[in-house]
Formats: sequence, structure tokens, C-alpha cells
Amino acid sequence: MIDAAPPMMPPEEFRRLGHEVVDWIAAYLDHVRDYPVLPSVRPGELVDSLPSSAPDSGEPVETLLEDFRDQIVPRLTHWNHPRFLGYFATTASSPGILAEMLAAAVNVNHMLWKTSPAATELEQVTLSWLRQWLGLPEDFFGIIYDTASTSTLHALAAARESADPDARRRGVASRMTVYCSEQAHSSVDKAAITIGVGHENVRKIPVDAGFRMRPDDLETSIGNDRAAGARPFCVVATVGTTPTTSIDPVAEIARIARREGLWLHVDGAYGGLAAIAPEYQWVLDGAVEADSLVVNPHKWLFTPVDLSAFYTRRPEMLRRAFTLVPDYLETRPDPRAVNLMDYGFQLGRRFRSLKLWFVMRYFGRQGVARVIRNHMAMAREFECWVRGDPRFEIAAPVPLSVVCFRVRGANEINQRLLDRINASGVALLSHAVLDGRFVLRLAIGNMGTTRQDLAEVWRWIQDAAARTAGPPPDS
Ligand SMILES: *Cc1c(COP(=O)(O)O)cnc(C)c1O
Repeated sequence: MIDAAPPMMPPEEFRRLGHEVVDWIAAYLDHVRDYPVLPSVRPGELVDSLPSSAPDSGEPVETLLEDFRDQIVPRLTHWNHPRFLGYFATTASSPGILAEMLAAAVNVNHMLWKTSPAATELEQVTLSWLRQWLGLPEDFFGIIYDTASTSTLHALAAARESADPDARRRGVASRMTVYCSEQAHSSVDKAAITIGVGHENVRKIPVDAGFRMRPDDLETSIGNDRAAGARPFCVVATVGTTPTTSIDPVAEIARIARREGLWLHVDGAYGGLAAIAPEYQWVLDGAVEADSLVVNPHKWLFTPVDLSAFYTRRPEMLRRAFTLVPDYLETRPDPRAVNLMDYGFQLGRRFRSLKLWFVMRYFGRQGVARVIRNHMAMAREFECWVRGDPRFEIAAPVPLSVVCFRVRGANEINQRLLDRINASGVALLSHAVLDGRFVLRLAIGNMGTTRQDLAEVWRWIQDAAARTAGPPPDS
């Protein structure tokens, strides 16, 4: 029997609750500083406090909102907090949040052009705009995936397709090798594992004193592999490595890749976006030579997670690697009707370009550049403060908005210092291990972060270091 009245939410109720939710969001954004950045919770705490199975009959949204406020929010790590200074600090900006609400409402799935023409074409438009902001040439085709890990996976799959068109049918038969620096992101390893190239065929090229890939070592490694009968197929250069934001010499790497016939993928997940500020356009020097490139607007372009922008000037390799159209998805071909499902392994797609469109239009290039520039300036100032205190040392150059520093002395002191800061809730920092040394890593990337935030955090760190490591040497 068909139930005549499915239990949908009446529009009036939706409107009332919607206003309540927006009010909550506005207050949250306004008062996010009042929360500890990192919650003080035990693992399993939330699991133990919630019912072990879902309700049989529905509950009012008021109850859900109450539980969200009382059970969930206090146990969140607040990524939108201006003193979230770990990993890569990010911002879900207000225009991006509004666009996410709208995208959820229309709930389109643009696997084919036909299944949502506007979502398909807005993805083309926004990625073309972003490509221009980055100073990349027109022949870069853009597509949105969820994360940089997924983008890099597609880069490696396209590179494999280019080097060995038969691998798609029979699997990887020969020993194929891929190159990146020892500071590259683990997503390169995961991509090699996933496409069947194998973890042991990822070559980690040594870096110079500035943590940049050494091109001479890259050449040697490629030569050795060829001599041993392997098949080098791809090199990944990083613009803004995760530990220190070092920038590989992309132009030199591009020359080697070209000469050796390797696919060049540039991982600029965070650092590539610096190019939006004209005086930092140089970070993508050499990237115009790349076969593919990834930047993450959800990292440094104030877009709510997730949104990764992938560019390639050889989209036909993506198509060759992935096209597989079951009967029910066949459509009449039209050169202007792009079916994005052909350019990757996923079928369904979220309407992510809407939030990028909102963010780019609301702030404009100048607005975005101003924030990025400001982040860089604050990082340089923080570096000066660290250099001014003889108990501390700077552990890596500061090319962008991340500062790696440490208390002079044992790794354990630094680990304890980090734990103390994070446990205090005042700020969240993360760490890196550079040449066996444990270093604190302060990443500036939230739009709300001010110089005063950093001054307070620095004072806090100095006080904590005094308590952790004893008095300064000259007192
Ligand atoms: C953050 C980061 C990644 C991974 O990004 P996801 O979007 O989380 O997959 C890859 N490479 C670099 C250089 C990064 O900084």
C-alpha cells in the first residue's frame, strides 16, 4: 500500500529552522574565538554518549540542533578558528558557506552535461577564471575533484596511460618508476600504490639545504632506473611542500622531464595559490611546462572543504585512462557538452564550483591577494620574533606563510612544548621532522588570523618554553 503522506518537512517548518540555523552559523563565525581550538576529549567519548542505534520514530529538529550544540560542537577541533595554526590553516568564508547551502538544496549531480548543464559549465568557467589568476596558459583543461590526493591520483593514472596505453587493459606489466622529492606529500605514494605501480617504485629524490628537490639527483636516479630495465614515467614537483613549504626548482625539473619523456605533475595544493598575488606569481615559474597541476582552493582560497582544482594540458589522457560508458549513460556527442564522468574514476559529482564562484566573485582577485600577502607578512614577522629569542631557532626557510621553528635542545622538549600549547586550547600548532629534528610548525592561512593573535601565541610559547626548558641562557 502506498502511504498518501510521506513524512516530509513542511515548508514553514523548514523556513523557521533555516533561519535558526543561519543565526547559529552567524554567531559561531562571530564567536569562534571563544572556543578552545582543540577540544579536551577522550577517544570514544562521543560514541559512548550517543545511542547505539538510530531512532525508530522521527525526532524534532529542535532536539537535533540541541544535540549538535551540546554533543558535537564541544568536541570539534575548530578549523575555522583564527588561532588554528597547524597543518595548513584554512578558511570556510561566509560566501562559500552560503553557496554550500544552496548546492545542497539543488542537489544536482553533473556526471553528464545533460544531468546538470549549469553545474558542468560553471565548473569550466570557475576553473578558467582560476587558471587566469594563476597565470597558467589557456590550453590547461580544468576539472574539480574532492582533494589533492584524488587529483594526484588522476595525474599518475594519466601519466601511466600516456606511457603504457596497454596498462589499462592488462594491468601494469613492466616496472614503472615515479619520482618526487623526499619532502613530497604521501599522496604521491598512495597514488602509486593505488594504480598498481607499487610503493617500492616511488623514488624519493634528496633535497638541498632549503628542502628543494635536487635536479642532479633526479637525473641520476632516472638513469639508474633505465639502466636496471625499469620504465620511468612520471615526476612530481612540489610547489609548497607540506613540512616546510619549500618550492622545488620546477623549471629545471621540467627540462629533465621533457628530455626524458616523463609526465610532469606539479603539486601546488597549498603553495600554488600564492600565485594569485602578482608578486608571488613566480612560485609557478616552470609550471607552464607541466602536463598537470593541482591547487586546493579549500586550502588557501577560503573555500569550505572540499574542493581541489586539477589542470592538465593533456585531458585526452584522462579520457583514455577512464572513459567507460555503460549503455544507460550514452548521450549524443556534442563538442561543447563535456561529460565530466569521462575524466576520472568517479561517476557522481558534487556541485563544488558554486562555492568557488561565490568566493572568487565576493572577494575578487585583489581581495584574495591582499589576504595571502598579509599571511606572508605575518609569517615573516613571526620568523623575526623567533630569531630575536636566543632560546629558539628557525628550522627552515620561510618562503610562504609557514614557520618551522624549535627550542634549541632535545626533540623531547619540543614535543612537550607542542603538547602544552595544544592542550591549552589557546592555539593549535602541528609539527614536522626535519633531518631527524622535531620542529614546531606554525601555518597561517585563516582569514581571521591577526597580528595580535600571533603576538599572543608567541608570548604564550615563550612563557611555556621558560617553564618547559628552564630560564633563557643569559638570565
Ligand atoms: C595538503 C596537501 C596534499 C593533500 O591534500 P588533500 O586535499 O588533503 O588530499 C597534497 N600535497 C600537498 C603539497 C599538500 O600540502
